[in-house]
Amino acid sequence: MHSYVGRFAPSPSGPLHFGSLVCALISFLHARQAKGQWLVRIEDVDTTRVKAGADQIILSQIIAHGMYWDGNIIYQTNRQDAYQNAVDILHKKQLIYACSCSRQAIKSKAKYYTGTCRDLHLPFKNNAIRIINTCHDCRFQDLNLGEVLVDPLFCNEDLCIQRKDGLFAYNLAVVVDDIKQNITHVVRGADLIDTTLQQRHLYYVLGENCPKYLHLPTICSEDGKKLSKQNHATAIENRRASKNLVDALTVIGMSSNSLSEKMTVEELIHWALAHWSPSLLAKRREILISAINTV
Ligand code: GLU
Repeated sequence: MHSYVGRFAPSPSGPLHFGSLVCALISFLHARQAKGQWLVRIEDVDTTRVKAGADQIILSQIIAHGMYWDGNIIYQTNRQDAYQNAVDILHKKQLIYACSCSRQAIKSKAKYYTGTCRDLHLPFKNNAIRIINTCHDCRFQDLNLGEVLVDPLFCNEDLCIQRKDGLFAYNLAVVVDDIKQNITHVVRGADLIDTTLQQRHLYYVLGENCPKYLHLPTICSEDGKKLSKQNHATAIENRRASKNLVDALTVIGMSSNSLSEKMTVEELIHWALAHWSPSLLAKRREILISAINTV
């Protein structure tokens, strides 16, 4: 077993943009610097958000930017049995219940779900499935941010693990896959911090050890909004791979006179491997894109 197994787990709802390139790059550098494995997993569990062909574009972008993954690529749509198995385990442990609340109904009552259906014994068919929250820990250690405290109301929420429409929830899929792939280090954007506690709860009830976490600052446009596929952030272009890499390294604080867009992708990755350190992130949760002169 490897002492470091990391991964990059994009959702194929569109091509990689600058923010997701930073995420791929740092998870790659952190794994390779530790002489670990680096896996790529396509998180297409929410099939309603999948854009046809986006997975292949993402993989070509990863390769064009000098990153090579280990092993086979897992697609979450091929892992339905594993997710069902996890639901069955939790059912046997009497830790789940059916919930008929719509998102709107929840929002109209409180900021978070307050357990309305917990004792109603509703049928599982045509309802969402939630897990009884038995873990009231609201803190975890992050390799960038140090001790992170998440809103206790959110941490105590009964997490949805299967949606009313039958799709398994992202939080369940990500944990079941990270367990299956023996992931030791999760390096991802800070926009996912809040879900970390809920995911840790799932590890706990499934009797598994949690990985270590390193949450990267979210890359935001000048108006403070996260670059995201939903905001139609510009896709990174493979033909400008060296420039994209220089920009990505610069934005996280690795600017240097020895970096140049004229370097090849291989030279840039080689340089970055010698210079990467999580301390460069300086506990930041957000970086405005105006910090670099990009696109
Ligand atoms: N699939 C998620 C995303 O693209 C990332 C999940 C994770 O890294 O845990 O935002």
